[in-house]
Amino acid sequence: LRTKHTAAPLNIFTIMSALAKKEQAYNLSQGLPDYPVAPELGEFLKEAVTNGYNQYAPMPGLVELREQIAVYFNRIYHSDYCHANNITITPGATYGLFTAFATILEQGDEVIYLEPAFDCYLPAIEINGGIPVCVRLDAARNFEIDWQKIKDAVTSKTKVILINTPHNPTGTVWSKNDWDTLADLISDKNIYVVSDEVYNTILFDGQQHIPGYLQERLRNRVISVYSFGKMYHITGWKVGFCIAAEHITNAFRSIHQYLTFSVNTPAQYALARYLELHRPDDEASVFLQKKRDLLIRGLSGSKFKLNGTTKGSYFQLFDYSALSDLPDIAFAQWLATRHKVATIPLSAFYKTPPGISQVRFSFAKEDAVIKAATDILAGL
Ligand code: PMP
Ligand code: GLN
Repeated sequence: LRTKHTAAPLNIFTIMSALAKKEQAYNLSQGLPDYPVAPELGEFLKEAVTNGYNQYAPMPGLVELREQIAVYFNRIYHSDYCHANNITITPGATYGLFTAFATILEQGDEVIYLEPAFDCYLPAIEINGGIPVCVRLDAARNFEIDWQKIKDAVTSKTKVILINTPHNPTGTVWSKNDWDTLADLISDKNIYVVSDEVYNTILFDGQQHIPGYLQERLRNRVISVYSFGKMYHITGWKVGFCIAAEHITNAFRSIHQYLTFSVNTPAQYALARYLELHRPDDEASVFLQKKRDLLIRGLSGSKFKLNGTTKGSYFQLFDYSALSDLPDIAFAQWLATRHKVATIPLSAFYKTPPGISQVRFSFAKEDAVIKAATDILAGL
């Protein structure tokens, strides 16, 4: 007797945060804020419980929240295409991605994804019967998209192209030209797009986010995935949403209703109230850009070399080859253990690591933590 899946190793985010705790190291590894969240969110959560929002929410999500998301989305992206019936509330974006693949994929369908890639992509594709087809981005070219490589990867079996903008861990952001090139590439093919846009509200130096769902030529074949965890610095709430055309949304919901049925009601109520009063705007970007700059300033002139300044997300890659020739996992362990600063080795984002000497820092951290960590690192 045996299960199809056996125990997988713990993921690197769990390992590095546990190591940071054990070593009492400054934790710039896992992407989770260490600063307090808006007190009003907590007040709305209490209000939800007091007002009786304690039973199952409707399967697609509270209508109050879906309507607020539609208003917010249409306003910030100057659109008219997002309505409550295009939105499904999910228990986070990880779930949204998994359910998107469960909705779209048939056994043996190929999914093109770009490496470095966030760690839940491969399992989500494979568990749902898909075959991952990797297109590797070139570190020496700042991880920019190589369209020729993507074109070469397309076959008659390609069913999905998975993209992530702003990108974890490189911080690259898709331009309108990228979206147009993708639309040109797949317009005469039966290919869907799963678009991970969880960092849509964290953009620097005047960058703009362009949602996949709003690409006219893609609208009938894209699922855009978002996370309130990133939007409001509440990763532990595990609430997100997916936006797609109505027929795709209805198919998505047919899986969703049996995977979880519905999402935490008090959290949805609190988010609807909060979103009505505080549309995510440039505030998070301004706040986090200062932290990015504090990190970069702190390491300027050190042996950590910047590998392309991040344009979005709360991650920054640094090359450490001037300091050490250890492989990145061993280097990250050494740094956390010996010098009390935890980071994420870049190889965690590859199936077969290419041996690049880079680590990822999360700067969604208190200024004092960034300062103390960079003071240590600059002295190495
Ligand atoms: N995609 C990317 C690129 C991420 O960095 C994260 C963060 N964990 C997720 C998806 C998952 O988001 P959530 O916490 O809402 O599941
Ligand atoms: N998205 C976050 C990161 O990249 C957290 C991932 C996780 O803990 N699963 O660090």
